Amino acid sequence: MLNSIKRATSFVQYILREKIKEGNVVIDATMGNGNDTLFLAKLVGLKGMVFAFDIQSVALESTKNKVSSNKLDSYNIKLINDSHENIDKYIMGTVNAAMFNLGYLPKGDHSIITKASSTIKSILSILSILKPGGIISIIIYYGHDGGKEEKDEVLNFLQKLSQEDVTVMQCNYTNHDNNPPIIIFIEKNK
Ligand code: SAM
Repeated sequence: MLNSIKRATSFVQYILREKIKEGNVVIDATMGNGNDTLFLAKLVGLKGMVFAFDIQSVALESTKNKVSSNKLDSYNIKLINDSHENIDKYIMGTVNAAMFNLGYLPKGDHSIITKASSTIKSILSILSILKPGGIISIIIYYGHDGGKEEKDEVLNFLQKLSQEDVTVMQCNYTNHDNNPPIIIFIEKNK
């Protein structure tokens, strides 16, 4: 690929391609228009499983259409119209990876945004079922109203996670204007 790091989504996918294998169980914690759901489904294949969450039914509609138009209807993709903080109600076993894309639904209602309290609750929930070596990616968009508060709280929470248990890496764009996204990877050590 010509530009692997110019777009946050491309860079995250570049790393996750190394980690996620066929047959894995994975989570798209912020489904939105389904781009990450689709990416994950293609990686885990027919033997894998994708759980995708969003609080907006319009996101489920958009993702459902994307799954169909990409001919992935026979894949194990569960679209869940609920907050990612309730992950433990839907997933009983362990998972290999999860993706978060914080902020609002592109081309949707910009006032419906991810919030620090539910994001943090969801990360903790996923960490409790994440396999050793498993990974969580988070892209933090924060240019919108309420975005900076979520960014600060989430980064503060991540800094306090034990280095015995997890490795947290933060990637920043140092020469991009207009609140460039922050990329986080959390890898479970054991
Ligand atoms: N990954 C998406 C894509 O490929 O289009 C973009 C995600 S968008 C930046 C953030 C999404 O998170 C929005 O669709 C929003 O409705 C959703 N969201 C907000 N709060 C949520 C919550 N508590 N649980 C699950 N999804 C939530």
